[in-house]
Amino acid sequence: MIDIHCHILPGVDDGAQSLSESIEMAKKAVEQGIHKIVATPHHLTSSYENPKESIINRVNQLNVALRKEKIELDILPGQEVRIHGEMVEGCVAGDILPVNHTPYILVEFPSNHVPRYTEKLFYDLQVNGLIPVIVHPERNQEIIEHPELLYQLVKKGALTQITAASVCGDFGKKIKNFSLQLVEANLTHFMASDAHNITNRTFKMSEAFGTIEKKYGNELVYYFEENAALLIEGHSVYKEDPERIKKKKIFNLF
Ligand code: FE
Repeated sequence: MIDIHCHILPGVDDGAQSLSESIEMAKKAVEQGIHKIVATPHHLTSSYENPKESIINRVNQLNVALRKEKIELDILPGQEVRIHGEMVEGCVAGDILPVNHTPYILVEFPSNHVPRYTEKLFYDLQVNGLIPVIVHPERNQEIIEHPELLYQLVKKGALTQITAASVCGDFGKKIKNFSLQLVEANLTHFMASDAHNITNRTFKMSEAFGTIEKKYGNELVYYFEENAALLIEGHSVYKEDPERIKKKKIFNLF
């Protein structure tokens, strides 16, 4: 299993705080059946600054440490980029690190809204050969209230990644139900852990895949697993035509 979103690098953000915590997370990941993790520290926020070169160096160091500990887990470089006005310039200039040096970029929205310039920015990214992957749309307040916003972005080429813990109900029933609605409406393409530690924000990948398998069958499990494998190689991923989520249905579920 491949996890494309994880805060496993030590001491760079609100994820693992030390190498020993990273090692603990790595052991937990292996227990879950994960063999590759894309390390995706927050790129640039008021609290953190993680330039591309430093992430690449830290990924190499963590891989060396894992080999020493005989843990069979590969760490690949990546970044979780908070959406901002100069993102396209940052990508073109090579300051932003896509997933494992592919054209795919993990993009995070503010938790309560979707900036109005997103559609234009995503268009510009795609014109420059880059593909935005919206992380955890199921936890964005404005998307929950207006799923049409996400539909429009996906329709225009954006991909999305839901969080395993959301599917398990760790963020509440409302977010769990909304995550499943995104799956059913072909509005999501990846499932990842967004793990920060081994306590309150852990992997939950095997549990979430269990839920997906029970509800939708093996095929959807393969879909997510295949897509993660395609993504880290920079290949085109599988996607079905997105559908709109009916508002009535959301109210019923909440
Ligand atoms: Fe994250």
